[in-house]
Amino acid sequence: MTIAVLGGGISGLSAGYYLLRRFGKPLTIYEASPRVGGWIRSERHKNQGFLFECGPRTIRPKGLPGANTLELVEELKLPIKAIPSSHVAARNRMLYAKGQICMLPNGPKGLVSVVPPFSKPLYRALIHDLTTNGTVAKNQDESIYSFAERRFGKEIADYAISPMICGICAGDAREISVRFLMETLFEQEQKYGGVLKGMLYARFKDKADKAGAQGLFADGQDEPSLYRQARQEKWAMYGLGDGLEQLPRTLRKYLGERDVNVQLNSKCHNLSFNSDGCAVLSIRDTKVPVSHVVSSLPAYQLAQLTRTQHPSLAAQLLSIPYVDVVVVNMQYDSDQLLQHDGFGLLVPPVENLPVLGIIFDSCCFDMAGNTVITVMMGGRWFDKWFSQQPAVSQKELRDIAQQQVRKILRIKEEPKFSRVHMLHKCIPQYTVGHKRRVEGIRDYIRSYKLPLSLCGAAYDGVGINDVILSARRQVDAVQFTT
Ligand SMILES: Cc1cc2nc3c(=O)[nH]c(=O)nc-3n(C[C@H](O)[C@H](O)[C@H](O)COP(=O)(O)OP(=O)(O)OC[C@H]3O[C@@H](n4cnc5c(N)ncnc54)[C@H](O)[C@@H]3O)c2cc1C
Repeated sequence: MTIAVLGGGISGLSAGYYLLRRFGKPLTIYEASPRVGGWIRSERHKNQGFLFECGPRTIRPKGLPGANTLELVEELKLPIKAIPSSHVAARNRMLYAKGQICMLPNGPKGLVSVVPPFSKPLYRALIHDLTTNGTVAKNQDESIYSFAERRFGKEIADYAISPMICGICAGDAREISVRFLMETLFEQEQKYGGVLKGMLYARFKDKADKAGAQGLFADGQDEPSLYRQARQEKWAMYGLGDGLEQLPRTLRKYLGERDVNVQLNSKCHNLSFNSDGCAVLSIRDTKVPVSHVVSSLPAYQLAQLTRTQHPSLAAQLLSIPYVDVVVVNMQYDSDQLLQHDGFGLLVPPVENLPVLGIIFDSCCFDMAGNTVITVMMGGRWFDKWFSQQPAVSQKELRDIAQQQVRKILRIKEEPKFSRVHMLHKCIPQYTVGHKRRVEGIRDYIRSYKLPLSLCGAAYDGVGINDVILSARRQVDAVQFTT
């Protein structure tokens, strides 16, 4: 009997890759849409030499999750476009706050001088941390905003942490769990009573991290040479030659060449479990019995499939919220339009604008003399800005993005070419209590002995590295012999 993977995004394809490596065939990946890649979508405009990334665009090479992805990238022989830490896109990160573009401090000078939008030198925030007592109760959770405000003050929470959360998950730092990004610091604060002390500990942990990465590759394999190269050349992040969509596309080809069946246009409508320990998928009008299911679907999609037989599991899955993001890619013929060089800018939610951030794609990668930018809008505030009746049109979304570009970047001219993508429920939100929620879901599956493993952005991290590593770990934990 076959193993089934639900979803042909990067998580599902990675699960397929690790299942193939561990168990061999037979293995089928069911994907609802006519393409693989999920939110990873790249549009190369070959004649003009530029690229639009409509979802993710860069991957970090750091730590164990970074090393794991680089191992896969190496196996697939993908063409890397590395951005070293000395590159302007790695050094310069900006905010749009209080009516101006503010360059975030990237060296020790920023610690002692006043750098807008902050009204005090940043060392004052560190003193606040050193002199503030009090933590939340052990094993509790709190929002990352509340944690940052407690340790460093409101200004840091508003202008450093909140925009960072917008940039990573389009979410509201007042709702997102501190464990989403700062679990170690949070726990060290509980242990040592401060973040600075925790950070000192993290420096030691960095060394442990390297050992950890080696640990992952300990089964007779060397650390991936790309990972070593990334460390030696100090890569801050990387993209791929023809855009990140090359990763899922090449992975699909790799799997297909090894007889893994990747079925497109094959939405799973129902998932049930028999008393003999098998699972049954409903694909189109067919019932497909399988020995094990790895679901990489968004949690709310899996809830739909399981709600008839396991309503309580479905309810827990539904308690993971998602947000909508509008992505507007714009291309201009001239390369002289951006007044600042860098990765791009984020807009703190206190600014009360529909924009989450603007990425300067043509500063990150060569775009053949074009200026290319991407405006991200909505996220946790999508309903506030865009949910009107009748539904806001693509043209209106494009106009709003352009207005914001005019206001923030002072680019008066119209883009020569632009694309609007409305990404519905694209990023799960790790709100306060997320970790317990996921433990509860996995406990349920264990206690009912369901032949089901969960990977994908809903559970163990929202970045590409996280979801690939999650797929690997879940496959490693599958217990049965085929
Ligand atoms: C705008 C945006 C920007 C991002 N930027 C970055 C970045 O720069 N760097 C980074 O590391 N990460 C980034 N991310 C996160 C990253 O893109 C995601 O974590 C990752 O793509 C999630 O992959 P996935 O396979 O888990 O999910 P998905 O991509 O959602 O794939 C799930 C797949 O399941 C399919 N499916 C759904 N229901 C069914 C069903 N019933 N039956 C069969 N198939 C089904 C869907 O069609 C889809 O193909 C970004 C995300 C977004 C939205």
